[in-house]
Amino acid sequence: MTETARPRMAVRPSRQVLADGVYEQLRALIMNHGIEPGERANIDEIARELDVSGTPVREALARLESEGLVSRLPLRGYRVTELLTRKEVEDIYGLRLLLEPPSAARAAAAMSPPFASALEEELATCPSAPTGASYDAYKALTAHDARLHELILRIAGNVSVEQAFVRTHCHLHFFRLSYNQPFGEQTIAEHRALVEALVVGKAAAARDAMTHHLETARDRILSRFV
Ligand SMILES: [Zn+2]
Repeated sequence: MTETARPRMAVRPSRQVLADGVYEQLRALIMNHGIEPGERANIDEIARELDVSGTPVREALARLESEGLVSRLPLRGYRVTELLTRKEVEDIYGLRLLLEPPSAARAAAAMSPPFASALEEELATCPSAPTGASYDAYKALTAHDARLHELILRIAGNVSVEQAFVRTHCHLHFFRLSYNQPFGEQTIAEHRALVEALVVGKAAAARDAMTHHLETARDRILSRFV
């Protein structure tokens, strides 16, 4: 490519921007049940609807597959995954309860001014709960929730534990089950108590606050299955 060709290229969205946009739109469609759990995700249909070629749609579906939102059908494209079952929710919280309370204790023991600032800054990104029941309103709270739990695991310093947590994509899947439930304020209060114990380096209190937060969050979600 010549130097003079560059300015003209710049007016079009880059391939990456387009791919990210298609991914975000498809993800929102699945989260909003615009494509129902179990329904087929037809590449040609989606491409037509979003007015793009099949390539960014295929890329988006591959990304969504890595998050467990779609699964590949042999020779037939993709299907939106089913919602988590009660047993799957219990199992994920079982794993989290093994990993996160001891990690919170380790993070408290490893506390330093930069880590404390990072935790306070993360809390400040979500000072109040959303009042609406829309996907967009709860997206910010869930993203904050995922970031805070990942940050605590990072401070605890065990990369394998952090990766095991990230691979569950649990926030995304819990969010898909219950984003319209009015639990935002409780979640924020539990996070605040957790961060307060962490920043002053109280290991036992941080571990207990994490256990309490995960157990109550689990029970909130499980109450939907009764
Ligand atoms: Zn949380």
